[in-house]
Amino acid sequence: MSSVYLQTFGCQMNVADSNGLAYQAWSLGCTFTEEPGEADILIVNTCAIREKAETRVYGRLGQLKNIKRPGSKLLVAGCLAEKDRQVMQKKAPHVDALLGPREYRRFKQLLAQWGVPTDAPPPQTEMRAASAEDDPGHDGAAQFAHLRALVSITRGCEKFCTYCIVPYTRGPLESLDPEEIEAHIRREIRCGAKEITLLGQNVNSYIHGPTGLNFAGLLRRLSAIDGLERLTFLTSHPKDFDGDVVDALAQLPNVQPRLHLPVQCASNRVLAAMARLYTIEEYLEKIAYFRERLPRWALTTDLIVGFPGESEADFAQTLELVERGTFEAAFIFAYSPRSGTPAATMAAQVPPQEKIRRLQVLNTAQMQRTNDFHQSFIGETVPVIVSGPSKKDASRMAGKTGHNVTVVWPRDARSEHRPCVDIAVEQAYNWGLAGRVA
Ligand code: SF4
Repeated sequence: MSSVYLQTFGCQMNVADSNGLAYQAWSLGCTFTEEPGEADILIVNTCAIREKAETRVYGRLGQLKNIKRPGSKLLVAGCLAEKDRQVMQKKAPHVDALLGPREYRRFKQLLAQWGVPTDAPPPQTEMRAASAEDDPGHDGAAQFAHLRALVSITRGCEKFCTYCIVPYTRGPLESLDPEEIEAHIRREIRCGAKEITLLGQNVNSYIHGPTGLNFAGLLRRLSAIDGLERLTFLTSHPKDFDGDVVDALAQLPNVQPRLHLPVQCASNRVLAAMARLYTIEEYLEKIAYFRERLPRWALTTDLIVGFPGESEADFAQTLELVERGTFEAAFIFAYSPRSGTPAATMAAQVPPQEKIRRLQVLNTAQMQRTNDFHQSFIGETVPVIVSGPSKKDASRMAGKTGHNVTVVWPRDARSEHRPCVDIAVEQAYNWGLAGRVA
């Protein structure tokens, strides 16, 4: 029996892919270890979205060279495996194999080459996969990791936003078969999942070729699965997000009240340079309909400041959008050039100190709105899925509301092992809420 060590860098797509690889290894009878020095097969699932992520991966590969046992195999999977296919052998010659994000169907074949028998009967128990919240360094979190599960519905992206490496590393859009998606969700529910997050670079572009099933239709179909308590999805592209999806969301009782719709910026000039394929007016029109149909939902977004050519006037438009209270929360990034993408070679790169200034100004403005949103929960009782003991204070438990807001409460024997609790909210902060078990 071979033992596997698996480490994941990067986004939730990578966490979901790692779960898929782990499932394939488990179905062949492999066991898992958290000690790389004890493993027969070491897998590092990598990210190439930013330079920093790449540096961390190469640093880790250097450490593993000294830790891994003689004879054990090292596999590099994910976006960096694809991006650095030609240079990995030179940069990290101790790596035994590469599998890009579109090659995971070859994984079992690779395991067979490395001596894992492929004719063993499948294990009789279900495998518990890692979730979005899985964190080996987070003591006690593993017990709750299976409650929120990630299920991919698409692979790849063909939007080619000018700052993004994903279309080059993950290839064109591929929509998974609805039966395959349903089977995956049922498996997660049998393992105890309370919330399923449907994943894709752009879930709204889902289209099942043979039947024409689109994302709204898929939501309706999946929402009806027996035992599915909470359903949500990531990420939506504004170009493909439409009224049909909003209507589906308004009809489905187990869809969670949150939408992540990355706007990136509010200047049409910059949106065009990013090749985002919508204008700010089109974006606002879509969210007006969303707000009308789903008034109590949280709208969250991604924002990039300091994109090449972004002027002070462009930035002022984005700031104004945020100051108007458009978003309940936002992930704000300073643009960082990614080699191999068109934006990296654009003239008029914004100086680093100016990017940081804009980042801070925008963060401050957003924080005000996020805090107001959190304050609105004081006095309410909110249902929460538990994620484990709080990372910052082990005397408290932590979890997430349906709006995806973090909540903490005092740890006690009565609620310590429950997967879901109702929390009476007493305080609100920039980062989330605090309260007591109701
Ligand atoms: S939609 Fe744009 S930002 Fe998102 S993955 Fe595709 S190319 Fe990248």
